[in-house]
Amino acid sequence: IHRTHSSFTGGVERTLVAVKPDGVQRRYVGQIIQRFEKRGFKLVGLKMLQASDGLLSQHYRELVKKPFYPNLVDYMTSGPVVAMVWEGLNVVQSSRRMVGPTNPAEAPAGTVRGDLSLHVSRNVVHASDSVEGAEREIQLWFEGKELLNWECYDHSLTYKED
Ligand code: GDP
Ligand code: MG
Repeated sequence: IHRTHSSFTGGVERTLVAVKPDGVQRRYVGQIIQRFEKRGFKLVGLKMLQASDGLLSQHYRELVKKPFYPNLVDYMTSGPVVAMVWEGLNVVQSSRRMVGPTNPAEAPAGTVRGDLSLHVSRNVVHASDSVEGAEREIQLWFEGKELLNWECYDHSLTYKED
């Protein structure tokens, strides 16, 4: 393990991306990871887990009063989730754009949801929606020691200081 690149381009962020149980069941884990790798983001945390009701009530704390919340918990606890932390320039907003709108019916082709899903209650993947939300969600899903600072040797090919 090496230290994070010292002259990192400004705006570096981390975000939580999770392949939901339908994405795992449908064997989409590899291709979802590949999209983020190809874009140039750096994987700094990865694990498979069974989400608990308690974790989900914190993760989705803004949604617990919604009528669909019980169905959302059933969905999210129906099988394993693959949780990841990705790092890079503007990764929070870029990941949301790569994932696409919440409702796959509105998701453009080329987005994860637009390519791999049809219905809002089975939309394959999660991505944090703000920098503050990402920090909160990463702390919820990962322990500090599970996040690795490592130097990606192609950094200078992906980033250029002005
Ligand atoms: P996201 O950030 O794009 O995932 O969307 P939200 O944070 O608004 O909602 C979280 C998750 O709850 C979504 O990804 C869906 O899986 C689910 N969800 C949101 N809205 C609805 C809805 O109207 N109906 C159902 N069944 N599920 C929903
Ligand atoms: Mg959300």
